[in-house]
Amino acid sequence: MATWTIKALLDWMTPFLADTQVDSPRLCSELLLTHVLGLRRIELYTQFDRVLSPAELASLRSLVKRAGEHEPVGYLVGKSEFYSIEFDVQPGCLIPRPETELLVQHAIEAIRGYGDNPQVLDLCTGSGCIAVALAKNCDRVQVTATDISGEAIAIARANIHKHNLSERIELLQGDLLAPLRQRRFDLVVCNPPYVSTCEFEGLDRNVKDYEPELALRAGDEGLDIYRRILQNIGDHLTPEGVLMMEMGFQQGTALCQLIEQTGLFQEIAVKKDFEGHDRLVLAKTESS
Ligand code: GLN
Repeated sequence: MATWTIKALLDWMTPFLADTQVDSPRLCSELLLTHVLGLRRIELYTQFDRVLSPAELASLRSLVKRAGEHEPVGYLVGKSEFYSIEFDVQPGCLIPRPETELLVQHAIEAIRGYGDNPQVLDLCTGSGCIAVALAKNCDRVQVTATDISGEAIAIARANIHKHNLSERIELLQGDLLAPLRQRRFDLVVCNPPYVSTCEFEGLDRNVKDYEPELALRAGDEGLDIYRRILQNIGDHLTPEGVLMMEMGFQQGTALCQLIEQTGLFQEIAVKKDFEGHDRLVLAKTESS
């Protein structure tokens, strides 16, 4: 009978997951092993010859099987990293995407230009990853985060608590801007659902079959949520307020047009992600 050491398991899992067309099979194997063994990734390599117990092997086997069926590894291990911060994730929220770090980067830059105690609003907060990354990186900022989903709010609350940010992030459940009443913000950030009907059909299995549709789909062209945000955004920005929204890589022209039509913004710019795709739109109420 084979002795299942960490090394032998990595050598078995990686090609198995590669054969089932799972993305990043080596990373996925490492994450599943670290989860089962309660180790850090580096410790897999310092304990290469460690033999797994039958119980550890059984839980690993079941996770590998689920990963082979394209269940996202973030949900399997209950964690995901974003902006070098660890977040709890569950099927009730989207798993944070690396391209969303672009939004955080630009938001941090904007916040540095503000005076004391800037007020930031994060719409469609999901796991709370943007709100937490901003509060953790900007000492003076106060964040309000909203989401319509009760499940997402519970996950965001756990993440805010995990990073000791309950004093600086207020969480409100409700539909987009509805829970905010008359409040205005210096910066509004948002990674809304923006997947069109046609794109949704073509999404990878790990997204389409496992992540919440509510967090992904936004009508035929994927623009429905932007339209609804833009309808009322004027009531929630300060006179020098800035709006930053993530978008699908083919939505730049249409989204800029929708923003222009509000007549509220002087300067609108599109930024590209690390893959060279249009990913972010920045709209300033005053030109600087
Ligand atoms: N970029 C995400 C995806 O492809 C979609 C995220 C979103 O709609 N906010 O899965």
